[in-house]
Amino acid sequence: MKHSSGTLFIISAPSGAGKTSLVKALTDDLNHIRVSVSHTTRAMRPGERDGVNYHFVDRAEFERMNAQGDFLEQAEVFGNCYGTSRSALQQTLDQGHDLILEIDWQGAQQVRKLMPETRSIFILPPSQQALRQRLTNRGQDSDEIIEGRMREAVSEMKHYDEYEYVIINDDFATALEDLKAVFRANRLQRDGQQQRHGELLKQLLA
Ligand code: 5GP
Repeated sequence: MKHSSGTLFIISAPSGAGKTSLVKALTDDLNHIRVSVSHTTRAMRPGERDGVNYHFVDRAEFERMNAQGDFLEQAEVFGNCYGTSRSALQQTLDQGHDLILEIDWQGAQQVRKLMPETRSIFILPPSQQALRQRLTNRGQDSDEIIEGRMREAVSEMKHYDEYEYVIINDDFATALEDLKAVFRANRLQRDGQQQRHGELLKQLLA
């Protein structure tokens, strides 16, 4: 393993746990972190942009990329395909940036097998009630749709114990501090510090 490279992080959460907002705030604050843009076959939501939130592709294109081995991991999540393309990944890490994959538990399992040094974080809501509230606030969906989302969220949360770190997003600012703490502590590990501060260490020990 090249010690000068950044660390790969997986962040998973059920829909409504606040993962996207937390990751956005994290990357606004810590500028050595990059976020991988996945490919998906799902329809674009209002406010989303192609190439920013996702690379939006049709199923044929997704399957073509998959057959070519373009994806580090891929999974079908509640009827849509999602995948992390390999192309930008190693380059970003080699540049010394930490890289976040916002992927589900199935993708997380695949990445851990391939890259066991990957760190993983699961974000939980403070209660089922709060989660239901957050899933309801998103739009004018029917009770049936909201209950469906709750079931999906619970099935995602059942995998929380496969992750090294668990953050509960009750108070946003606290959850953000917790998330930052994980990235900061990781960045302070000796191997990486030796690489980043080689000159200083040489001078200090002269
Ligand atoms: P959404 O459609 O709400 O953006 O995401 C739905 C789920 O798909 C979330 O759990 C999200 O983490 C997951 N997801 C997004 N991108 C990827 C990816 O590239 N790979 C995998 N395995 N899951 C992904």
